Amino acid sequence: MLAARFLILYGSQRGQAQSIAEEICQQAAEHGFTADINCLSNQHKYNLDSEIRPVVFVISTTGDGDPPDTAQKFVRKIKNKSLPHNHFSHLHYALLALGDTNYANFCNGGKTIDSRLQQLGAKHFYATGHADDGTGLEVVVDPWIEGLWDALKKTFSSMATSDQQDTDLSDCTQDDFHKNASGQEKYKSDLEVDLHLLKLSETDSQKGKAITSDSIDVETLSTVLVASLKQSVPLLSESALNVPALPASYLEVRLEQVSTEGETVPSDKDGYHEVSISKAVQLTQDDAVKTAISLELDISEQNLAYQPGDAFDILCPNRASEVEELLLRLDLQTQKNCAVQVNLLKNKHLPKLQPRAYSAASSSLQHPGKVHFVFNVVEFPARPEHPARTGLCTGWLADHVSSILRPLGTVLASERLGTSAPPKVHVRPRPSGTFHLPADPSVPVVMVGPGTGVAPFIGFLQQREKEREANQEATFGETWLFFGCRHKDKDFLFREELERFAHNGTLSHLIVCFSRDEPDAAGTVNRPTYVQHNLSLHAKNVASILLKDKGSLYVCGDAKNMAKDVNDTLLEIIGNELQIDKLDAMKTVAGLREEKRYLQDIWS
Ligand code: NAP
Repeated sequence: MLAARFLILYGSQRGQAQSIAEEICQQAAEHGFTADINCLSNQHKYNLDSEIRPVVFVISTTGDGDPPDTAQKFVRKIKNKSLPHNHFSHLHYALLALGDTNYANFCNGGKTIDSRLQQLGAKHFYATGHADDGTGLEVVVDPWIEGLWDALKKTFSSMATSDQQDTDLSDCTQDDFHKNASGQEKYKSDLEVDLHLLKLSETDSQKGKAITSDSIDVETLSTVLVASLKQSVPLLSESALNVPALPASYLEVRLEQVSTEGETVPSDKDGYHEVSISKAVQLTQDDAVKTAISLELDISEQNLAYQPGDAFDILCPNRASEVEELLLRLDLQTQKNCAVQVNLLKNKHLPKLQPRAYSAASSSLQHPGKVHFVFNVVEFPARPEHPARTGLCTGWLADHVSSILRPLGTVLASERLGTSAPPKVHVRPRPSGTFHLPADPSVPVVMVGPGTGVAPFIGFLQQREKEREANQEATFGETWLFFGCRHKDKDFLFREELERFAHNGTLSHLIVCFSRDEPDAAGTVNRPTYVQHNLSLHAKNVASILLKDKGSLYVCGDAKNMAKDVNDTLLEIIGNELQIDKLDAMKTVAGLREEKRYLQDIWS
């Protein structure tokens, strides 16, 4: 019998895939397995060319459907065209892909690796899961992990009974794996639906029993699927009533007797730099719907390089009141200066606090040694279950800079200058693969960025302004910016700077709309309220830039509504211009994406 040891490889951008991979690693012991875990970027620590253990991949997606930065080298390596088609025929693997349906190319990071491994002869021992951050990763991730243990058990038992059981998996045929994976292959494309249904335990309630993931295999899932589509949930009065059992313990608390007094950030701040916040400006009026704040970070000492279009990860601490409350509940107030490791025992994402990414809203040509970014202070109104509160990172940042925050157009009062050390923050550059100005400055660009979505375009335009100053003979393509906010006089972010760009020709067309201002005295009928309305009004120019002049379209901002609506408008514009139906317009737009001429930096 082979040791039940398998390998977990993860490709993570913001830590989500890593924390799921660690969760799998942690659970492996409970299920009688031993797992080794590695980031895909640590190529010297694993060798898939000779790996005979089952391998579990957890891969996130970033940018425009790209594999995470940490997986880029691995992807390049397996994409090597000289590899023979049976290069990975010895490899048996399962893959969990993470993505977000609010973005184009859902789960494409994982899909890219999955399809290349298949091309090179590797075999699934368990169907691929595609988890959607748009609806909640856990909807797929939790049942996928639950099902993994059974698939691994069957895989190991097949390995033990195969002819060369002790040493070699290479004779394990694809059929064996299909059999061992309980027929999961045939449900592969439906896995997302099946796994989703697994979560919906009401689907089995007509049988008067709760579905537990232990009791389900994929065959049962198909029955569940059929039943759930044909039958509704029975009335509570018709359900079997059971006496609730004592719930299993779910929390593990470990106290590490090492004093952490004085430490304010996690010790594994890999790649992070502590930098000073040299300026904080409130960009909106006090009565604006949302408060936008711009921060300037001094990155000169750390020598951090970035391009407009890149972002920065910011670390924020847990909310102090919540930490206090947890310590109180755990009766650990007296030990609050010791590290406490709190784990939820049953697969229930106590994930590490993730960094928050903000787009650079500056160019280092214009602000050497500095980077700016802008954010709205997210506010959650009071609810019966909790009082009003602010977003964790944006609320913390707003409090953190309150001593140096000044309204737009003012300078900080002298008595508040230089009296105390500037607030600091931990940051890590997060370069974008594609969201940059075209390499050829003569290419025209259309930028769509309402609200704080304008941030990267401020960086683009600062860069362009400096380049124009330095190369007066060069040809620069037209620049269009479609900006939108709620009120002209309350939240027109970067108004002066944008008007300067328009005035000096850096910006050829500044097209703005105000969604909540009253119509002017002339009472303009059908005035544009959203950026996409203005895109429609300028449809001919937009189409010509994209279809004739090989220009680029950049969209930044809210993913859920704005980016979808802008995409629909683009389909209309292209359909009308080329006189083609929606399907063909979609193909044209997909072509623009592939050519990296339609780029999105969108957030939900
Ligand atoms: P916002 O909430 O998107 O609002 C900006 C304008 O867009 C408002 O006038 C709003 O109008 C309008 N709007 C609402 N629905 C729309 C739709 N379906 N289509 C077009 N416009 C619509 O602005 P924000 O609060 O600044 O948020 C911008 C988004 O960008 C956030 O998701 C943020 O996370 C993201 N982002 C931030 C950064 C950054 O670095 N901070 C970078 C990139 C993206 P009404 O409210 O009147 O309906």
